[in-house]
Amino acid sequence: MEYKPKIINGKAQNTGYPIDGHVLTLSQWDYDNHASWHLYGWEPSEDEAVMETMYRAELDAGFRADDTREEFVETWKAGEYEPPAAFALELDQVEVLEVLQEEEGTAPAAGIRPRELHDKGGIMCLPLDQNLNGDTQAKHPEWTPISCPRCGRKCWKPTEADRIHKAQGVRFLCTECAIKAGLLAPYKPGSNPNPAGNRAQRRRANREKRRK
Ligand SMILES: [Zn+2]
Repeated sequence: MEYKPKIINGKAQNTGYPIDGHVLTLSQWDYDNHASWHLYGWEPSEDEAVMETMYRAELDAGFRADDTREEFVETWKAGEYEPPAAFALELDQVEVLEVLQEEEGTAPAAGIRPRELHDKGGIMCLPLDQNLNGDTQAKHPEWTPISCPRCGRKCWKPTEADRIHKAQGVRFLCTECAIKAGLLAPYKPGSNPNPAGNRAQRRRANREKRRK
């Protein structure tokens, strides 16, 4: 049976990074004994906080000695950011809000590791009404209820969804349909090499391009 990690939406807290108070999609894996939450995805509305957090986390870890903040932001906005290491939160740094997928199967085969960052592609996940507490209208008066285009179940559309839909052509799916569509499937390293070379090679190429 294929292994699936547990996937949740949870609110980050006490990390000391800009993601505190933000809701992220996080995964928990057998391979590290369920000891942490791994960043797995996020809504476009959280992108700025996640970008700032990644930048600071990389600085703190000593990864960003050789390029500037402008280069970092440029890479991020171009969708070319690749984390040098997994970004994980302690168990008590996450308040679990919604379970999207329970862990399934036995320990993963060697080589299966979490996909880490902004892999939402062209789909925006909308929270299913059945996974919320029934007080969505009170908590988020600006959200509108819609039917999931695939399964027809009631889900909620945040305010910025239409703007992002127009600007970037994202499709809407409820979180369950998104998971079924393979959106949150485990990432197998090496299956998808970047034609422009690895991260260090591309950064070097970009710097050289800019000097010309
Ligand atoms: Zn659906």
